[in-house]
Amino acid sequence: MTTLSDVKVVLKRHWGYDDFLPLQERAIESVLSGRDSIVILPTGGGKSICFQAPAVALPGMAIVVSPLISLMKDQIDSLIECGIPAARIDSSQSTRERDAIVERIIKRELKLLYISPERFASDGFIRFLQGVDISLIAIDEAHCVSMWGHDFRPEYRRLGRLKESFPGVSVHAYTATATEHVRRDIALQLHLKDPEMLIGSFDRPNLIYRVQRRSNTLRQVRGVLDRHRDESVIIYCIRRADVDELCASLIQKGYRAAPYHAGMSAEERKNSQDAFIEEQVDIIVATVAFGMGIDKSNVRAVIHTGMPKSLEHYQQESGRAGRDGLEAECLLFWSGGDYGIWKSIMSNTESDQARDIALTKLNAMYDYCTGLTCRHHSLVNYFGQDLEGTNCGACDVCLGEIGSMDGSLEIAQKILSCVVRLHERFDADYTAAVLSGSRDHRILERKHDHLSTYGLLSDLPKSTTRDWIEQLVGQGYLEKAGDFNVLHVTERGWRVLHGEEVPNLLKPAEQHIRTSKVAADSWEGVDHGLFEALRGLRRKLALKKSVPSYIVFSDAALRDMARRRPSTVDGFLQVSGVGRAKAEQYGDIFVDAILRYCHDYSLSMDVVVPQRGASAHKEKRSTLNLARLTAYGLFAQGISVEEVARKVERAPSTVVEYLISYISKEGLTEASPWVDERSFDRIVKVAAARDANLIGPIYRALGGEVSYDQIKISIAVLQNRER
Ligand code: ADP
Ligand code: ZN
Repeated sequence: MTTLSDVKVVLKRHWGYDDFLPLQERAIESVLSGRDSIVILPTGGGKSICFQAPAVALPGMAIVVSPLISLMKDQIDSLIECGIPAARIDSSQSTRERDAIVERIIKRELKLLYISPERFASDGFIRFLQGVDISLIAIDEAHCVSMWGHDFRPEYRRLGRLKESFPGVSVHAYTATATEHVRRDIALQLHLKDPEMLIGSFDRPNLIYRVQRRSNTLRQVRGVLDRHRDESVIIYCIRRADVDELCASLIQKGYRAAPYHAGMSAEERKNSQDAFIEEQVDIIVATVAFGMGIDKSNVRAVIHTGMPKSLEHYQQESGRAGRDGLEAECLLFWSGGDYGIWKSIMSNTESDQARDIALTKLNAMYDYCTGLTCRHHSLVNYFGQDLEGTNCGACDVCLGEIGSMDGSLEIAQKILSCVVRLHERFDADYTAAVLSGSRDHRILERKHDHLSTYGLLSDLPKSTTRDWIEQLVGQGYLEKAGDFNVLHVTERGWRVLHGEEVPNLLKPAEQHIRTSKVAADSWEGVDHGLFEALRGLRRKLALKKSVPSYIVFSDAALRDMARRRPSTVDGFLQVSGVGRAKAEQYGDIFVDAILRYCHDYSLSMDVVVPQRGASAHKEKRSTLNLARLTAYGLFAQGISVEEVARKVERAPSTVVEYLISYISKEGLTEASPWVDERSFDRIVKVAAARDANLIGPIYRALGGEVSYDQIKISIAVLQNRER
């Protein structure tokens, strides 16, 4: 009988994880007890472990049905990296490839076999599998079976015959789509027998949601990208033309970006997608056509440059951020115009009823954008769940970033009157420069430094003023005109100048982007520089093996390495996300890189990190330190304090401390070669006479002829003699 603790051993051995995530345990228990189940967990909730780990622990081979070849490939690559024999059978393979896999099945070599649903059309294939010892059947992306889902696949309907064809085997369905309709459909279409229904929380606590009005797409997007330098980011645009334009502008500004939309050829799309997955580019700019089948776990931000048409879409697209459980950001830039665009698209195409439903969804989306309730709460409520607590600590509302500046009116008046003083003949950039008191020669030549509005906002960065100008344009108080985007004050703008209307200016970005608690926790104790160095190493190894970086190690595993900084392969195995197969394959090379980095930057190593959930205040204790270790080796060769100090680049006083602990650790009873014999004898005598090992009195008794360091070293030796 395979038990939960057997599966836990497997989890540690192959994946290097100490514990199950919420709901994984119950999902695995239902596999072990042979009861059919439907497991609903959001993206990143850890669905695959729910069937992969028991498949390894149970005798026989598991069948996994998955709709996309790219998804299957990804999972199989990951499994193989974890030392688990897995393979797939799908329509893209040659007969020879397929025969080779059939051979391995017959030899009982495989623990998991991934199959595309259309294979079940073949009776011969089913008969073949009936002769194999099957441990369980997992249906991934099970919502594909339902017409009510967003991704119906007719081939999935064939899966209904699995229950009859394999009567003794339990079937388990996994999806991130939660609606009642889809759930019922899954049970019905797959002919599940009294399935256990396991529904996880739909909240994604590691995602930080922010919603902002769009004023200048490029600048706002760059603001986000600059917080995620060298990290993977997805940018969604509503239209193809926007994709091309934004992508080109970003590349021109030096960002590594690639476009993706349905107007490109299949090959161009594949190139962009591969470049993103293999991290040759950091950013993918795409329409919503991008994303299905992308399992990239370390996407650190998802930016929408326009409002999606429903919260279902938003949840799904933004959900591609932070699948590895680390903090990630979801930014939505919207404008009132987006609503109009969607509405007109809807009115053109669909039936009355469909249009009503679409409009209801669009309204909910709009409410989300304009609302001032916690984003996590809003999303989860929309999907029919509740969330505990009031402050999520991970959205713009709860972080207190929303809301207008105190003194919005006054600031707006300063900006608008500057535009008036400039006779409405200059653009936003120039106006901001005048307001911030720039000494630009153009300003001086035109004597604009004599204007009464010159330098009125000089206590703030120019970029902040620049943002506010855009906000005033966005809210219709200013207007840009002509080829040069010259600013004009509108009629509404004049109302502001007369104090009859108050615009809504947001707090300056630099000030309002705070770090969420999630981010602070996941970086706790992590050396950023080392993390970056390990990322570089991971990329090199991944390229060499032609697998995506996140399959070699997740970002979470790299952070834990940069936190623990193991000096041995054994220590490396303690890292969360490092199982045996990976330690064998990569242990030496990563430990070596860690050693070198810690040596170069004098970082302590083998830091003890308590297990998750052990205590809120994580104790950080360093047991070993590279300089110290090196010094010990040199002491063993009898090298002098001064010499060692030079070699390990430490102050002699520090090296004396090392030496003293070395002496007591090794139990040395001789002070030579660090203290000459004559001095040592004198110290021994004085110490014996005083019956106390106090340094000061000994120093004075010897008339200052023997140094403090020599006395300290000698006392350490004497203490060993007393033992
Ligand atoms: P889903 O398929 O639900 O989107 P995945 O199976 O891709 O989720 O898992 C998401 C991430 O969580 C992966 O990086 C995975 O390695 C990690 N993970 C899964 N189970 C655990 C666990 N028990 N402990 C720590 N990390 C886990
Ligand atoms: Zn919140």
